Amino acid sequence: MGRPHVLIIPCPAQGHVTPLMKFAYQISDHGIKVTFVNSDFIHEKLVAALPDEDEAQSRIGLASIPDGLGPGEDRKDLLKSTDSMLRVMPGHLKELIEKVNNSNDDEKITCVIADTTVGWALEVAEKMGIKRVAFCPCGPGSLALLFHIPRLIEAGHVNGIDGSLLNEELICLAKDIPAFSSNRLPWSCPSDLTVQEILFRLALQCIPAKNLSNWLLCNSVYELDSSACDLIPNILPIGPLLASNHLGHYTGNLWPEDSTCISWLDKQPAGSVIYVAFGSLATLSQNQFNELALGIELVGRPFLWVVRSDFTNGSAAEYPDGFIERVAEHGKIVSWAPQEKVLAHPSVACFLSHCGWNSTMDGIGMGVPFLCWPYFADQFHNQSYICDKWKVGLGLNPDEDGFISRHEIKKKIEMLVSDDGIKANAEKLKEMARKSVIEGGSSYKNFQTFVEALKQ
Ligand code: UDP
Repeated sequence: MGRPHVLIIPCPAQGHVTPLMKFAYQISDHGIKVTFVNSDFIHEKLVAALPDEDEAQSRIGLASIPDGLGPGEDRKDLLKSTDSMLRVMPGHLKELIEKVNNSNDDEKITCVIADTTVGWALEVAEKMGIKRVAFCPCGPGSLALLFHIPRLIEAGHVNGIDGSLLNEELICLAKDIPAFSSNRLPWSCPSDLTVQEILFRLALQCIPAKNLSNWLLCNSVYELDSSACDLIPNILPIGPLLASNHLGHYTGNLWPEDSTCISWLDKQPAGSVIYVAFGSLATLSQNQFNELALGIELVGRPFLWVVRSDFTNGSAAEYPDGFIERVAEHGKIVSWAPQEKVLAHPSVACFLSHCGWNSTMDGIGMGVPFLCWPYFADQFHNQSYICDKWKVGLGLNPDEDGFISRHEIKKKIEMLVSDDGIKANAEKLKEMARKSVIEGGSSYKNFQTFVEALKQ
């Protein structure tokens, strides 16, 4: 038999590609061959955003399969794109595996690692008799709830069609896991109930991963959430997955990073900068965007703000009149940042975040206090962890229309940066995260056990 050859397949979105790419690097550092499979659409973006040195191409094999939609079709239409993916991708994945296996006897695929949201890939691997690993892109608390869905439906607590809660009772999985309310479920999308229903369908996709996989990995630290981990038999937390922990430091961006923000941060006083970033999917209305801009301006501190080209409901943002000129001296706006490097920078004081799970792990890994502004899915529950359980951040309170005012933003940023208790907690968690990935730590041991098993 040749060396182990792992095929990794994420769900086609930045928050899924990034942790699996970091993981791909980590296992490739241990001599394992990796083929990383994206949809053609994501593959094109990834390749277009590759850093000059073509680092990823040389270490990890990049491959792609069609998602069934034409090049110009709208992949933000979640219903259309999920249906299309489910219809065509399993067949293309099978063909790809056969092609790889037929091309070289010594490098046959020995294991498939799939995102829990692409459970169909695990089914393909099972039918082909290949070892399977499910990788959970969210936190163990959210995963525990996803695995609990069948019982919640059976008990008449959750509507099995659209995922809505059928009564007002909170869902408590364990004493130390923040309770889930109707707008804090991992499939919640208060601003769009159709999206919520699709997210629920995707959540249902995760459940078979429990039985279909030989291993279940997640980007977390056992000590951060031991109660949730204890509810999931065989889960192996191996996080925080940080690019700084593997050779190459590549993170699989779908947008080119603007690294001018690092030299800009170098010029700012230590602990002064507000870093504002909402991940890859969250959007704001133009009105809310303006208010956020004016809120950051009111604070008067240096800020680094990631404004994606599709941030204001899918189109290019328009800034309030005169804003750009007024903040030119102390504000930096980029369309995509090297987030890990930003959060590790000594000039950063706090992270105004949408609380995506990866951003949560980035902030915990770097010891940065959070100001939480969740948008959808597990982000609400992640906020509960950040503010109520770990006490490393504060939440923003919207008004009755869901609008967050500039005064609320200013007030909370000022409270956060002067809160020594939160800063101390963030430092403690950073240290816990650091210890977990070095020799003897829980994530380190889990990772070693896993890599050894891959080699057998
Ligand atoms: N990210 C980045 N630069 C940015 C914004 C985000 O590199 O300017 C990365 C971030 O480090 C994280 C990912 O994009 O790994 C976003 O994932 P997350 O789960 O936080 O949010 P999602 O995009 O899935 O909503």
